[in-house]
Amino acid sequence: SAKKSGRNAIRFFDLDMQAAVENRSSLEESMKQALPQQQFVLFYQAQVDNAGVIVGAEVLLRWQRPTHGMTLPEAFIPVAEETGLIVAIGLWVLESVCHQLKVWEHEPGKELLHVAVNVSARQFQQTNFVEQIIDVLEATEVNPARITLELTESMVLANIPEAISKMQVLKQKGIKFAMDDFGTGHSSLSSLQKLPLDQLKIDQSFIHDIAENHDGVVIVQTIIAMANKLGMEVIAEGVETKAQKDFLIQQHCLNFQGYLFGKPMPVNEFEQALEYWATPSDESLPV
Ligand code: C2E
Ligand code: MG
Ligand code: MG
Ligand code: MG
Repeated sequence: SAKKSGRNAIRFFDLDMQAAVENRSSLEESMKQALPQQQFVLFYQAQVDNAGVIVGAEVLLRWQRPTHGMTLPEAFIPVAEETGLIVAIGLWVLESVCHQLKVWEHEPGKELLHVAVNVSARQFQQTNFVEQIIDVLEATEVNPARITLELTESMVLANIPEAISKMQVLKQKGIKFAMDDFGTGHSSLSSLQKLPLDQLKIDQSFIHDIAENHDGVVIVQTIIAMANKLGMEVIAEGVETKAQKDFLIQQHCLNFQGYLFGKPMPVNEFEQALEYWATPSDESLPV
């Protein structure tokens, strides 16, 4: 009856409201358990050069949440940032990556792989950020030159002199730096010139656009020209089609990451992909 469904509708509405409120605090509570209960997982997404060689991977965090399944960063990183949990999570990510690099050191074809690790604003702002990173590197005895830390424009622009001094200490150890999602922020050419960056990552929104409209093309060309002038490497993220890749090669962008080459995957699958592409055959990466 109408009366019955009406009452049910109200009850569902109340339950939804309650669920939304519980979600935020239960998300926080369950996130606190995630590290001790080893629920975080690292996925690896291939980074490829123009010869089709997998030169490394970006490490992307996943949360195997018991009640929700595999959870993407967008669903939990903002709350991890707000609560500060991201600091411990970020250290765990770096430690895990370093242990993986140590394992790969003894495996033919994997000993030269590079990994790119995302750094959050909250992590980078820590006064002991540099010491935290160095401690992990020294404890794990990994060659720092195999690690690229990915920063974003806003976290660097918030305090350029401080960012430069933190980056310089780590650069002296051999760590590399990339500017992630480049083009979406407000970096000026002069601030970019001051930063000891090794790589610009063209944001995937522009890569998506190059197949569609001219604006995307001009932005991508400008970023590549800037990177070349500043002596930085350039990598395109979110490359999904051969047309996009062909255009980028034409423009002298020679490093790629995107679904065309491989999705982010668990480490065992990434290793299989490496072995598959390293096996001589007529097949090669779609380059
Ligand atoms: P990001 O660093 O810009 O990572 C690239 C994102 O684009 C990843 O999303 C990746 O799965 C996705 N992607 C890669 N190739 C393609 C493609 O061809 N097409 C499309 N449509 N998407 C593609 P994901 O894994 O969901 O990560 C989202 C963001 O979460 C990352 O953006 C990064 O900002 C953050 N994140 C991931 N892992 C970590 C971490 O360990 N620490 C911190 N602080 N942030 C992380
Ligand atoms: Mg990134
Ligand atoms: Mg990015
Ligand atoms: Mg991003």
